[in-house]
Amino acid sequence: MDKRQTDVLNVDNYVENLEQHPSIQLAASRLKEDQVVAFPTETVYGLGGNALSDKAIEKIFRAKGRPTDNPLIVHIADQKDLDNYVKVIPNTVEKLMDAFWPGPLTIVLEHNGKIAPKVTANLSTVAIRMPDHPIALALIKAANLPLAAPSANTSGRPSPTKAEHVIEDLNGRIYTIINGGSTGVGVESTVVDCTGEKPMILRPGGITKEQIQSVVGEVLMDPALHKITEAPKSPGMKYTHYAPAAPLVLVDGDEEFFRKTIEKAQSEGMKVGLLITEEMERNFSVEKQVVIGTRSDLNSVAKNLYDALRAFEKHEVDVIYAEVFAETEIGTAIMNRLNKASGGSMILQHK
Ligand code: AMP
Ligand code: MG
Repeated sequence: MDKRQTDVLNVDNYVENLEQHPSIQLAASRLKEDQVVAFPTETVYGLGGNALSDKAIEKIFRAKGRPTDNPLIVHIADQKDLDNYVKVIPNTVEKLMDAFWPGPLTIVLEHNGKIAPKVTANLSTVAIRMPDHPIALALIKAANLPLAAPSANTSGRPSPTKAEHVIEDLNGRIYTIINGGSTGVGVESTVVDCTGEKPMILRPGGITKEQIQSVVGEVLMDPALHKITEAPKSPGMKYTHYAPAAPLVLVDGDEEFFRKTIEKAQSEGMKVGLLITEEMERNFSVEKQVVIGTRSDLNSVAKNLYDALRAFEKHEVDVIYAEVFAETEIGTAIMNRLNKASGGSMILQHK
């Protein structure tokens, strides 16, 4: 890696004619030269590269340290562009696009061979979405390219919801970051496989199962999502993802149970951190407490989740206890990310 500085280009989301903005034009010209560019979407910051060029895609995997068998999502700026990259567009997909694009819904279909093989990790399918963010759309249009863009974090870390998070992880590893402020949804897109008879959710996200069902009827969930973890499980046994600086353990119980769990850890000499909602934020005596939002609006929890996971510094606490949420609506995506961040580690109150 050479020592070139990372350019942080500040762009106001609300200016007119964003496509012509000098920073968007500069970033677009770099994309055309197969460089990578971090940019905001409505979900999280993405690390974009030309989806037609394996050379650009290699740079994305390298900057993130991402395993090359994990395929990327392709971002387009117009519903009509889907047709350029897939074999057939089923009727259900037309309905899904009309209902949810632009927005946090990624559609998996058989590709027609135009997208670079490294994007799809040599699968026969490709994942595509149209983001609902003025900067993302302007950048795609200015570059006139489909952009493959995974989250702009180091692999394994919480996804970035602010340009500062991207800088934290990728400064000096990429040359261009567009800073458009905080992202809105906060968790990644819902990935729905539309190659079968019925749509199947592979990853819960910003568009809920309930919303999808209201448009296309029955929706399946990938059975792999239902490997419910039993409590308690030792941390680190499984994969980790979105990992904070200390082991994360989910605590499923009432306030009294939370208190006992905290006291037990402290009696063993552990410094305790809490990831907690406004409703639960009261008089726990712990080393550090981070509020992730309010139960009365779980969208606030989704929006703040990754920032909250990043808020704990190394060695600041020995364990982080987090609340759990009902797995309906946006709660499904929140729990999916919390389960991954904790590696399945959960303490359950026997009721
Ligand atoms: P990220 O870019 O980090 O948000 O992750 C992209 C997600 O989309 C991962 O969970 C991938 O496994 C998934 N994905 C991308 N392409 C495909 C595909 N062709 N088939 C199934 N899942 C995909
Ligand atoms: Mg990611």
